[in-house]
Amino acid sequence: MDYIKLQERKIPVIADVDLFIAGGGCAGVGAGIAAARNGIRTLIAERMFCLGGTMTSGLMSKIAILETNHGIGEELIGRLDAYQKTNFLASRHEVPIDPELTKFMLDRMVIEEAGAEVLFGTTITGVIGGGRSIDAVIIDSINGTEAVRANYFADCTGDGQLGFKAGASYTTGNDEGYSSSPTLMFRVANVDIEKLISAMESRPELCASVKTAYSNHRLSPAQNRKNIARDRYAHFADFIPYIRQKVKENPGMFSDWEVEMMQQRGILFMNQPQGSHVLVNCTRIPYFKGNDNRELSRAMLSGRKQVEAVFRFMKFFLPGFERAFIMDTGSMLGIRESRRITGDYIFTEQDVESYRKFDDVIVSNQGGVEIHAVDGKETDIRELGKNDCYHVPYRSIIAKDFDNLFIAGRCFSSSHSALSAARNISYCMALGQAVGNAGALLIHAGKKNVREVDIKALQEKQRTVI
Ligand SMILES: Cc1cc2nc3c(=O)[nH]c(=O)nc-3n(C[C@H](O)[C@H](O)[C@H](O)COP(=O)(O)OP(=O)(O)OC[C@H]3O[C@@H](n4cnc5c(N)ncnc54)[C@H](O)[C@@H]3O)c2cc1C
Repeated sequence: MDYIKLQERKIPVIADVDLFIAGGGCAGVGAGIAAARNGIRTLIAERMFCLGGTMTSGLMSKIAILETNHGIGEELIGRLDAYQKTNFLASRHEVPIDPELTKFMLDRMVIEEAGAEVLFGTTITGVIGGGRSIDAVIIDSINGTEAVRANYFADCTGDGQLGFKAGASYTTGNDEGYSSSPTLMFRVANVDIEKLISAMESRPELCASVKTAYSNHRLSPAQNRKNIARDRYAHFADFIPYIRQKVKENPGMFSDWEVEMMQQRGILFMNQPQGSHVLVNCTRIPYFKGNDNRELSRAMLSGRKQVEAVFRFMKFFLPGFERAFIMDTGSMLGIRESRRITGDYIFTEQDVESYRKFDDVIVSNQGGVEIHAVDGKETDIRELGKNDCYHVPYRSIIAKDFDNLFIAGRCFSSSHSALSAARNISYCMALGQAVGNAGALLIHAGKKNVREVDIKALQEKQRTVI
């Protein structure tokens, strides 16, 4: 490997805060709101130009949220409903949201109301510290290179970027380092959904399905119509026998890999709050390692090619899609997993499946394991019973190698399969909320180490999500 040497440089310190949050995605939003509401000086640095991360920039415009979760996720959906005059919150545990409107709401909730400062277009590129303590982060933006000092730091980058740059221990993917396969999401507009539903009722070939991982989620045409009329979640999936039929009738219209890709997973989409457009979730990038920019580039390229092929099928063969167009593709790839920073405790699949309870619980959850196979073909969905929940302990959101580093969202300390259960949006927000609340308790008590938090006081603040 060829190397160049960097010269020593003097970098301006532009802020000194109580809690510095790297990444303003789902966990960063939760952390920022909770910390700032508790009156501590809070700064979020976000490389994109909006809050919400994968939820907004990645077009993950459907929040999974349990009936028992009354945290920031519920607040957000409630506010979207009030603004839109809809009742989508009632459709939990899967609630469609509008990613554009969500950007406005998050600006309001995080910056204007809670009072956190947010620097957009600002990437964390380095960490300064010694031993078990981080002193400052290096950020890069249109201003050039600058630094921010803080008492506590939170890695909410999804990819464990802050922990990685600080030298924290981490793991990636499964035993071979491959991640649950990612998806490039896209939205298709100008769709006549009622026409599709009516066609599905009168043409059995449209409803025929082969058993897929999503068969429990797929709804009948009548149920989808009812749900859409009542601001509820609607879910269309499979179409695999129909794809086979149309591909056979139209030789040469799709290449071999396009046919294989569509027949493996079928087409899966759901309604959106504003109607007449749908959110499509069916591309898959096989054998993905989330910690390499060449991999990321390959994945975006492959995702866009898949989007074009799936859309071509929809436009030409799905009734109601004749005048449809691609409204947008995610400006961020939908990454299910990359680096997981190692905490004082590594949350496991056994914890999920045995509904394990912990004394230092900070969040409860009910989501089961959902692994999107590394080859992109199958999805292992293990739904849990409805009457019990598992706990996530505080020890899994504090980095084991540091005294002042929190980790929340999909880079929290967990195993490959446990993360697949515990990475939903409202849940990442709740982990972030725990970071914000813990940071505030520590600052108000004058403590220097994340391990000195008053856990009972933290649990009291987390009561809406435990
Ligand atoms: C295809 C797919 C489908 C999904 N479906 C659902 C679903 O239906 N319902 C559901 O609830 N959940 C779903 N999820 C899960 C959920 O969307 C994610 O797990 C969750 O959004 C992760 O939140 P996070 O805060 O950890 O990361 P993110 O939301 O990704 O936020 C990380 C943020 O950090 C920023 N960042 C990264 N590096 C840097 C840096 N160096 N400097 C500055 N900023 C940085 C990013 O720009 C981003 O804004 C899905 C995920 C995927 C990929």
